[in-house]
Amino acid sequence: MAYEFDLLTIGAGSGGVAGSRRAAAYGPRVGIIEEARIGGTCVLRGCVPKKLLIYGVDIADTLADAAGFGWSIDGASLDWRKLIAAKDNELDRLHGIYVSMLDKAGVARIEGRGVLVDPHTVQVGDRRVTAERILIATGGWPTVPDIPGKELMITSNEALDLKNLPERIVIYGAGYIAVEFAGIFRAAGCTVDLVFRGDQVLRGFDGEVRAHLTDSLAARGINLLPGRTIASVAEEGAARRVTLSDGSVILAGQVMAATGRAPNTKGLGLEAVGVQTGAQGEIIVDNWSRTSVPSIYAVGDVTNRFNLTPVAIAEARAVAETLYNQNPMSVFENIVPTAVFSRPEVGTVGLSEEAALAASHTLDIYTTRFRPMKNTISGRAERTFMKLVVDQPSQRVLGAHMVGPDAAEIVQGLAVALTCGATKQQFDRTIGLHPSAAEEFVTLR
Ligand code: NDP
Repeated sequence: MAYEFDLLTIGAGSGGVAGSRRAAAYGPRVGIIEEARIGGTCVLRGCVPKKLLIYGVDIADTLADAAGFGWSIDGASLDWRKLIAAKDNELDRLHGIYVSMLDKAGVARIEGRGVLVDPHTVQVGDRRVTAERILIATGGWPTVPDIPGKELMITSNEALDLKNLPERIVIYGAGYIAVEFAGIFRAAGCTVDLVFRGDQVLRGFDGEVRAHLTDSLAARGINLLPGRTIASVAEEGAARRVTLSDGSVILAGQVMAATGRAPNTKGLGLEAVGVQTGAQGEIIVDNWSRTSVPSIYAVGDVTNRFNLTPVAIAEARAVAETLYNQNPMSVFENIVPTAVFSRPEVGTVGLSEEAALAASHTLDIYTTRFRPMKNTISGRAERTFMKLVVDQPSQRVLGAHMVGPDAAEIVQGLAVALTCGATKQQFDRTIGLHPSAAEEFVTLR
């Protein structure tokens, strides 16, 4: 049978675009379907706008630290609308770049919502598009807990576009998104209440990282309300009346749910075609991103593996390499670094102490807490935390963790070392780069 395309991708986010471009480079006819703007969550509703806002509000720290270094800065203030407008301009520019990258690669763009009809056919509006293979990369979407007044809650989608800063905002959850937005809104001058059901932020991260960040967030003036849930949200004039499980009430301008994201699989036609999904609606795939239907592949957040942009890109490129370049690639074995752009920032790669113990490793643990040099003159009390988790018999470094300025930049470098299987002795043999915070990772005793 003659198909219109060799590969048809549904979803033009980071994974879909990367996989389509890589495939097209090897000759096949590739099409990509997108119902919204090209770019996806990371570029339009996630990593990029979030990081731009963080750059914006981080200037508050520089202003606060300036006096210690002899500067007088009077009357500095943040115009939130200008920051949002500048961020939107940058997103428009990036969107344009994504469109032109697809065009230059020869990937046909098809606007509309794609619904699977059979293993080789997707319905887009009134058009039927056929392909030998289909790559699903439809990502995820924020979930909101099912509580009275849930329709009054915003999610990260709206939080990135707020035209007016609320005086007070309640953020629900304590994962990546919750702590990142808590940092943004606090630095922008809002009163921030972080309501979460656990006792510390960032479940799943190393315990000492969690404790250090939890304390640092409190020290930065975020009201931590652990061990609680939101029972209901109601309107009270222009405000939101938030009732917590302990009976206490907060009146706030906004309430934001940061309680996780779900794979975007509803209405895709997966059941009809026989693509298996899991409990959260995620598409079940093997290490080669193959679904239960031989002609259909899936990558990125829709598969709910590591829900991180670089992983989605790696998965998608691996599919393209495997199918169209006779270069079989699986990303399953990779060590995945990640950062949380909280204030202060968290960077982490490899195993937490808890995960290493659960995997029956015998461990040597190295930690340090110190006041970064900049904070001496500035008078800022915040301390940096670093930790290496080392397998005792082999001396291999299993995990590296940091809370503090530039953690993401530093940990990316350490991820190379861990990917190469570096040992503690090799860290020790490495000459430090002085004066830096990063050098502490090679002087841990
Ligand atoms: P997370 O899964 O990281 O955190 C969800 C938070 O919500 C947890 O604190 C969780 O509590 C809580 N929660 C979940 N369900 C409920 C509920 N029904 N009632 C009350 N609390 C609840 O999700 P996020 O939304 O923060 O982020 C989604 C994903 O996006 C992340 O896992 C990450 O992969 C990705 N991401 C990555 C970023 C980065 O790389 N910097 C930035 C932002 C997102 P508990 O811990 O008790 O389960």
